[in-house]
Amino acid sequence: MKEILKNYWDIKLQKVKNNLEKNNFEAHIAQTLDEARDLVIKKMVEELQPKSISFGGSMTVVECGIYDSIKKIKNLEVIDTYDTTVSSSEKMDRRRRSLLVDLYITGTNALVENGVLVNLDGMGNRVAAITFGPKNVVIVVGRNKIVSDMEEAMIRVKEFAAPVNAIRLKRKTPCTKTAECENCSSPERICNMWSIIEKSAPKGRIKIILINQDIGF
Ligand code: SF4
Repeated sequence: MKEILKNYWDIKLQKVKNNLEKNNFEAHIAQTLDEARDLVIKKMVEELQPKSISFGGSMTVVECGIYDSIKKIKNLEVIDTYDTTVSSSEKMDRRRRSLLVDLYITGTNALVENGVLVNLDGMGNRVAAITFGPKNVVIVVGRNKIVSDMEEAMIRVKEFAAPVNAIRLKRKTPCTKTAECENCSSPERICNMWSIIEKSAPKGRIKIILINQDIGF
């Protein structure tokens, strides 16, 4: 049973990796969270030698230990957008400054099998940074984010990821009570800006790490 599932995911992830590469993304497969973290810290940071790094909201980045490891690197400017102890205006300022870092690390809400990224943001800072600004972008993705087509991506994002994230963020939105999207007009709505990234431009600017595990929402 375990072996059959392993074969299934090995084949599936290789197919998605090939499609990402056809779309000019740099793509890697990590079997474990530790392997994903090492790919970021020991390979990408080593090779790119960024002077500044920041993050877009992602449970996967935290759970892989990437966030903690980055913070320990010396002689590196880390614009910490995850710090909950700072004021709202400081948070906003850091999000703005994160758009010009050398390396931006985040996750994605959905990854279509044909190698397309689909994201939905509340503020737009993450979709802005993935699209343009930071010199390089690393996206870590659990296999549970892979969907078969764009329609499934939209449904995954709006009917699952968004309500779960609203619950995680303790937002006063109807989905936190009903566990489904009510297309609300709440001031705390987290679903405001969509992005669909079909290809990386320039080639290789966006680097995807596919993790052969279920992780993140
Ligand atoms: S639009 Fe509103 S109700 Fe729907 S998922 Fe987003 S925050 Fe929740």
